[in-house]
Amino acid sequence: MSKAIVSKLYDSDVFRMACRQFDKAADAINLPEAIRDRTKYPRRCMAVALPIRRDNGTTVVFEGYRVQHSLSTGPSKGGLRFHQDVTLGEVAALAMWMSWKCSLVGLPFGGAKGGVIVDPFNLSPGELERLSRRYMQEMVPFLSPHVDIAAPDLGTNEQVMAWMMDTYSNHVGHVEPAIVTGKPLVLGGSEGRREATGRGVAYLVKTYLDDLKIPVGQATVAVQGFGNVGSETAAALAEYGARIIAISDHTAAFHNPQGIDVKKAQQYVQFNRVLHDFDGGEPITNEQLLELPCTVLAPAAIERVITEVNAPRLRCRILAEAANGPTTNGADRVLESREEIEVIPDVLCNSGGVIVSYFEWLQNLQHYYWTRDEVLAKLYAVLDKAKASVGYQQRKLKFSRRLAALTLGIQRVAEAKQKRGLFP
Ligand code: GLU
Repeated sequence: MSKAIVSKLYDSDVFRMACRQFDKAADAINLPEAIRDRTKYPRRCMAVALPIRRDNGTTVVFEGYRVQHSLSTGPSKGGLRFHQDVTLGEVAALAMWMSWKCSLVGLPFGGAKGGVIVDPFNLSPGELERLSRRYMQEMVPFLSPHVDIAAPDLGTNEQVMAWMMDTYSNHVGHVEPAIVTGKPLVLGGSEGRREATGRGVAYLVKTYLDDLKIPVGQATVAVQGFGNVGSETAAALAEYGARIIAISDHTAAFHNPQGIDVKKAQQYVQFNRVLHDFDGGEPITNEQLLELPCTVLAPAAIERVITEVNAPRLRCRILAEAANGPTTNGADRVLESREEIEVIPDVLCNSGGVIVSYFEWLQNLQHYYWTRDEVLAKLYAVLDKAKASVGYQQRKLKFSRRLAALTLGIQRVAEAKQKRGLFP
């Protein structure tokens, strides 16, 4: 496939962004031409119609996708997103990033992602259950604990995973917890999984602050996005002693230089679903939040929020990419010239989620469960190793941290494909 035509199937801003990142990384390490397209393009995708009965008796059909980017080093792994703006191209880009992420941190998984075009806030609990079950039912021929394993992402949670695990288990005729991760503890979920992504982000931020000799007690933090990842990142950084000066979600943003009470905000969201009308700080806009002076800025929501326009105006010391793909390629070029900003790239920064998903899958397959302390200790050990390997690659090849992380992730997938050969 020529470089100009990225893909008819997946063509979109975000897929092109992921492809350009790949091209840049492949050029930087002189990846042989023969292996490039095989490594870059998703292996396969499924698109399904999802009819469900609404509470009012009518029937509505949603569209859902699953993209399995790579199956060369193990089953594919990745979350399932329920969001009104989901596109096949977005899901493909997110699946691609999952491949580099799993590879970078050394998990025996390829990357995958799923998505349903739906605003989950507009569904009743019953409708959400029927949609989750129907999605799994339609995907049964394409998923298994040894083919592709789903997990929560934007708009999905433990309960959605529980319904999906139940639907799959009923289909195969026995309990099969390893079909999804991010389940409730009682169904074989792992200790520490719910907070794993946020804890991982916070742990990495703390280690980079240590490298910069900035005491965490003096750090101020702005978090964009207050879903599972954003709220747990804020909670864990607050626990380390940092001051959370701003938080936001898609309904509101708040600034409080004295420090926001994160526990209170979490409780507020538990009851109200969103931050709208929260009284823990001065209302600001999401755009203002991104440009606040702070030690750590953590975009923890959707893709492409750091752009060429706001990148020159960021006033953080560390940009911690808790979300997948929050920084456009244009913004990245700006950040490369702003040496005062340390970027912790998404594939490293938010990898704690899938690392503990891997632990959950292992525990399910072995029917042997670990304590929370064991899970977190193993998580931090994996993150330390990945961080060190990224640092080494950065120094050895004089790469930006993102390029170092992506080249490591891509290299291992490409090498595995090369060693396996091309069949037939
Ligand atoms: N959705 C998360 C991510 O983007 C977790 C995926 C998983 O645990 O499989 O990394």
